[in-house]
Amino acid sequence: MALHIKEYVSLAEYTTFKIGGNARFFCIADSEEALAEAITYAKKNDLPVFVLGGGSNILVSDEGFPGLVIKIEIEGIEFEENGDDVTASVGAGVNWDFFVEECVVRGVFGVENLSLIPGTVGAAPVQNIGAYGAEVRETIKSVHALNRITLERKVFSNPECVFSYRDSFFKKAEGKNFIITRVVFSLKKNSSLNTAYKDIAEYYARNPEHPKTLRGVRDAVVTIRTKKLPDLEKFGTAGSFFKNPIVGRKHYESLKEKYPDIPSYAVDGESVKIPLAWVLDNVCGFKGYRKDNVGVYQNQALVLVNFGNGTSAQIDTLAKEMMRAVKAKTNIEIEPEVHYVN
Ligand SMILES: Cc1cc2nc3c(=O)[nH]c(=O)nc-3n(C[C@H](O)[C@H](O)[C@H](O)COP(=O)(O)OP(=O)(O)OC[C@H]3O[C@@H](n4cnc5c(N)ncnc54)[C@H](O)[C@@H]3O)c2cc1C
Repeated sequence: MALHIKEYVSLAEYTTFKIGGNARFFCIADSEEALAEAITYAKKNDLPVFVLGGGSNILVSDEGFPGLVIKIEIEGIEFEENGDDVTASVGAGVNWDFFVEECVVRGVFGVENLSLIPGTVGAAPVQNIGAYGAEVRETIKSVHALNRITLERKVFSNPECVFSYRDSFFKKAEGKNFIITRVVFSLKKNSSLNTAYKDIAEYYARNPEHPKTLRGVRDAVVTIRTKKLPDLEKFGTAGSFFKNPIVGRKHYESLKEKYPDIPSYAVDGESVKIPLAWVLDNVCGFKGYRKDNVGVYQNQALVLVNFGNGTSAQIDTLAKEMMRAVKAKTNIEIEPEVHYVN
């Protein structure tokens, strides 16, 4: 297959933020071979490479990207059943929520709480996507990747991915050399549902007739998310802009004295995760805050939005203002979850 390299392609159209300048060079890789060819092209021409999935977790600079952007479109889902155990081998370019729907249609448990998360399957392990009491690491058996330096293939077992909260090996300096081509999931037939997470439990309490089935949980999550998160047709956004901070217990106790209603989730004996949206809303008053063409979403203070014609610089200025405010009020250093591309 001849690789089709385009020049000066607007990246704003390839991101859910709808922000960003041009990619100097841009191509689509729909197979491992095409991906290897694209990497070879970049090497020969001494170009930096950026690997793009669905563009739902990135903030591209207004100046764009000076190298080659490779958009991963490797397709294909293969299910294999063995009694109650189901293995799904999924191409990195498959839309994540399409995969979740395929699982639900087949009566396969494991990823239903992660319904409606935008993006591709290949990006899911990178930040160990999570929502509503589930993380993708719980179902990942292995991750297949191509080393962009040596062009060698490597299969990572689950422990080799070193997953933690919104983090994995693939976000570390060495891990960034690997481009994910395929993810293999370990799933189950006839398993139990996870409805303990606050929002889902409250949904079932309010709707006692709602079916407690795989389909029912997926529908509940879709309804909850649709209410809480901005409509991508109306707003540019990359979802939660920041990670929820994890602080030491002493730090948490001092915050609790100052803000008695502050919610928390125990991570282990030593540390506590604080829902940052609560802090941004109740302590810093950011919910619904607007500055220039960008702002903080009125229903979720963790979510930054582009109201139209917003720029990367405007988002960055707003994000820094929020980081400073949180630090001043709580002494917590928050960090972006969104990847900066420049
Ligand atoms: C409205 C909204 C809601 C969201 N809700 C959630 C949520 O509930 N939970 C959650 O965890 N996230 C959430 N996100 C963030 C986002 O959906 C996830 O991070 C998703 O996995 C990003 O996928 P993507 O394909 O769009 O990746 P991109 O944004 O294209 O890329 C993200 C990063 O992954 C790298 N990458 C992409 N593909 C590959 C690959 N094949 N190999 C190696 N590296 C790769 C990129 O280089 C980049 O660094 C939300 C985003 C939006 C817009």
